[in-house]
Amino acid sequence: MKKFAPYEFPVVRVGGFPTASITRAGLAEVMVRDCLQARDKGDQWLPKVVLSSNGQGLALAGKDSAFSEIMNQADIIHADGMPIVFASRLTSHPLPERIATTDFFHDAARAAEVHGLRFYILGAKEAQNRAAVDAIRRMYPKAEIVGRRNGYFGSDQDDVVCEEIRNSGADVLWVALGKPRQEFWAIQNREKLRGVGWIKTCGGLYAFLAGDSPRAPTWMQKAGLEWLYRTLKEPNRLGWRYLATNPYAVYRILRYTG
Ligand code: UDP
Repeated sequence: MKKFAPYEFPVVRVGGFPTASITRAGLAEVMVRDCLQARDKGDQWLPKVVLSSNGQGLALAGKDSAFSEIMNQADIIHADGMPIVFASRLTSHPLPERIATTDFFHDAARAAEVHGLRFYILGAKEAQNRAAVDAIRRMYPKAEIVGRRNGYFGSDQDDVVCEEIRNSGADVLWVALGKPRQEFWAIQNREKLRGVGWIKTCGGLYAFLAGDSPRAPTWMQKAGLEWLYRTLKEPNRLGWRYLATNPYAVYRILRYTG
């Protein structure tokens, strides 16, 4: 089975994306190992870009080859949506579990407390970014946040933003700029972020941390219906997104899995 070099975990193709067959705990261990290595290597270390796969991403990749190419440059893609996990069960290598970034963040923050890793929180509107940072500091007082910035800046500011992040000494850069901007941004700017261990895209994470968006009940998450819960809460913003992407994502899954 194809692997994400140099990692040892297996990879399963779901909906066209090579998807890491790994648990949340396992991914947090990989993050810690990479970040400690990045500190040793400094400028010789190109950040690992860790992206996630969900129905919206599969549909986008099918329609936009530039996005598909960007996804294929990731160092790791993990299964953010439960439907991706269900689909993997059609293959001989089912994924062990879903790794929703919203859940993984907590594994990562606990690991950061133990290993002294430093986070930079990039993206979202100013108030939400600030509220998310406050929440993280309350929940994980030993996880150091070395910088934050809202996600409303132009590409002419990328150099300045990256310089600030590098100077902050961040090990993990969390990037919430919405899909697909955050994936393009992460891949296109990684060269300017040498020495940072991981760049992790995180979509709506800060809205959850700030308490602006509630999580779906556990039964809905397990049933692969978190998207439905979110749509019912924010029909104007998300209704069209899921209506437009779900059927095509199902097609991509059936056609490009295994
Ligand atoms: N966002 C941003 N800059 C932009 C576009 C979006 O910081 O140019 C932020 C937005 O404020 C939100 C986050 O990106 O906090 C995720 O956006 P999206 O609604 O796509 O997330 P999802 O609903 O997919 O989790």
